[in-house]
Amino acid sequence: MVVGMTLPADAHVHSEYSWDAGSDPSSVGLMRRTCARAELIGLPAIAFTEHLDFEDRWLVGDGDMGSHAGVLVDEDNYVHLPTFDFDGYLDSIERCRHDFPSVKIMTGVEFGQPHLWADAAAAILGSGQIDRVNGSLHMLPFHGEDRTEPVTLYRHHTPAGVMWAYLEEIPRMVAGSDSFEVLTHIDYAARTWPANVAGPFNPREFEEGFRAAMRAIANSGRALEMNTRRLRPWTPQWWVEEGGQAVTFGSDAHSAEQLAAGFPEAAAMLEYFDFRPGSHPGDFWTR
Ligand SMILES: [Zn+2]
Ligand SMILES: [Zn+2]
Repeated sequence: MVVGMTLPADAHVHSEYSWDAGSDPSSVGLMRRTCARAELIGLPAIAFTEHLDFEDRWLVGDGDMGSHAGVLVDEDNYVHLPTFDFDGYLDSIERCRHDFPSVKIMTGVEFGQPHLWADAAAAILGSGQIDRVNGSLHMLPFHGEDRTEPVTLYRHHTPAGVMWAYLEEIPRMVAGSDSFEVLTHIDYAARTWPANVAGPFNPREFEEGFRAAMRAIANSGRALEMNTRRLRPWTPQWWVEEGGQAVTFGSDAHSAEQLAAGFPEAAAMLEYFDFRPGSHPGDFWTR
């Protein structure tokens, strides 16, 4: 075990039970390997928040799905997602809890567009077996009934238009669903920002949109995830200024090596903004 600070719980981790990891043969045994990695680095808690997606009109462009394209995309460029194997997932969680007793292992989902799919998710979310529900906005309206991700929208609309549409959907998602307690990666549309044509992503240009989204999340009593794929110091700053009280840390790992990536630096950043750990390893950090 690494000696030093106690790391925050990694509250956003994927295993082979997530469709975007599970379609890759190298993901076999990923949950176990991730738990072993947690033990090795002294991570006290993990939430395996597998993708819970029900989109049936997800239209992509050529190349947008990378290595998943061959398995999931049909000849008309619609994505067909496999059903989440909830029973298999729960069995695997139980085995890992038995085999890795030093790690608090939480169940969870990363629920995509929760304001649109409440009925489809009701059985799983109402099962009493889910510890953590992360709410994610991955897709926006495209043509007609179709929906798609920012990476695709950027090729059809202005970069600023896509970013504003993303940010303006967040308050609607918050108002339209009480099933999720944490909003993940508020910078999701910035991940694929087309810097080659638009220049570097400038958060100031969208500050009012981020702040309005954060206000909606804070006013609903929810937590905001600090997604450590990229640390952006303005995120906790604006979150606090808009009334945010709670955060989680999420690596969004799809491999064991990515677990808790960037966490020491993220924790230092959040401590600066007066966030502190709760009394149990899986608790939100609050101020
Ligand atoms: Zn996500
Ligand atoms: Zn994720």
